[in-house]
Amino acid sequence: MKRYAHWINGQRHQPAQGHYPVVNPATEQVIGYAPEATRGDVDTAVRAARTAYQAWSRTAPKERAAVLDRIADLLAAHAKDLVPLLQAETGAAMRVASTMQLPTAAERFRRYARGATEPDTIPLAPLPVKASPLAPGGLLGAAAVRRPVGVVGCITSYNFPVVNLAGKAAPALAMGNTVVAKPAPQDPLTCLLLGEIFQEAGLPDGVFNVVTGSGAAAGEALVAHPGVDMISFTGSTSVGKAIAESAGRLMKRTLMELGGKGAAIILDDLTDGAGKSAVGAVGSTWSFHCGQICTAPTRVLVHRALYEKVVTGLQSYAEALTIGDPVDNSTIVGPLISAAQRDRVEAYVAGARDQGARIVTGGTRPDLKPGFYAAPTLIADVRPGMAVAQEEIFGPVVVAIPFDTEDEAVEIANGTAYGLYDYVFSGDAGRAWQLAARLRSGNVGINTVQRHPETPFGGFKDSGIGRDGGSFGLHAYSELQSVVWPS
Ligand code: NAD
Repeated sequence: MKRYAHWINGQRHQPAQGHYPVVNPATEQVIGYAPEATRGDVDTAVRAARTAYQAWSRTAPKERAAVLDRIADLLAAHAKDLVPLLQAETGAAMRVASTMQLPTAAERFRRYARGATEPDTIPLAPLPVKASPLAPGGLLGAAAVRRPVGVVGCITSYNFPVVNLAGKAAPALAMGNTVVAKPAPQDPLTCLLLGEIFQEAGLPDGVFNVVTGSGAAAGEALVAHPGVDMISFTGSTSVGKAIAESAGRLMKRTLMELGGKGAAIILDDLTDGAGKSAVGAVGSTWSFHCGQICTAPTRVLVHRALYEKVVTGLQSYAEALTIGDPVDNSTIVGPLISAAQRDRVEAYVAGARDQGARIVTGGTRPDLKPGFYAAPTLIADVRPGMAVAQEEIFGPVVVAIPFDTEDEAVEIANGTAYGLYDYVFSGDAGRAWQLAARLRSGNVGINTVQRHPETPFGGFKDSGIGRDGGSFGLHAYSELQSVVWPS
């Protein structure tokens, strides 16, 4: 069984503290051993990134662009070898693993190859200023210039390990930063192979480093390290808050992409066809990576006139989904990442049942062994204050809540601590647009769950701070420097 190594300063770095097992969520078999980082390993990685920063931050943007383009090419070229490993460690259904895990990561590197050459200087109009005790007057020229932040610690969640990391590393490297990545403990193996690919693409040693660990220690060490200038984090809100506290003590910059509890508001003006697409959109919570998606529309708020119809439509949708072995091409719903996550999902469903909610479908463990499976579950007649309507479950569970007025729908939608992604389904896009303005959410989809890659992506409230995506992502990894001169 393969024992993986950290990737530090352009080399495999054997861990001082040994390895821990990584388990395939469908077979429950160990598929490899990931390195367990000590504080010393993290320190070595940060030092390598600091040293490499001197040259990389001064590399011509065109050169950085060329390296990122080659990384995109090589990710595509290595897809055949990497997809089976990615699939095995994430448990993603093969159609998701093969079409979205690596191709999306490659697209991100391609996008930020272009990003490297986006203008970094914002010219400001010359301004006449009066003489003062400080300095003589005159016509002053000025510009705001984007500079790299420095060493960026990228800490990511499980689910789309390489896509997640690419969403951070690609814009960070494009801006001239160097990176120490700390992938999630559950699915880190493919990320540990990226360093060699990046090196083959011409990325200088030390610019990109990867360390892993089975618990919180490696991430904590990275956040507390004085040599790290910025933490870019994707994960749960509770961990995000702990990181923000620790990072704040050293005034580190932070980008926080945290949890969500998306509401899909279905208005009463939907025609039948649009009703079907709303059901399909909400159904993506079950059919897309078993609901382990921060943007999933896990709360469906339905106008009472359509409520039973939508609940019945969702029930049929859920019951038609094939659950099982994710490597089987006909499988739509694969396993959850771990036994712990499955237990968590089951506990939420049991809690809702005890509180009198209606389990319309699912709610019992599928008769599939081995594997950490949970059935697509629809819970109706949920009250907005119930835990299943308030807390992020991160599994294949949708709750349905009826409403009578738009005001009520907005109040329920905004009534959780989260604000990552909401959706409005309406026959009148103008009405949906007006409603979007009232949602305290970083993203609103109108009649779609499709994502636009150039939009700023991030959360309001407990869903995070800062934005990635498109040029906004590039800017997140920069500091603005003002430069002023007498003209
Ligand atoms: P998690 O918060 O448990 O872990 C995320 C990462 O933080 C892991 O790498 C983990 O090892 C590390 N970590 C844990 N404790 C730490 C600490 N004290 N200091 C530093 N690092 C620490 O999240 P998860 O269970 O891996 O992922 C699920 C969560 O991620 C959900 O809440 C989901 O909504 C969120 N997520 C958000 C987005 C987004 O873009 N907003 C995308 C995907 C997932």
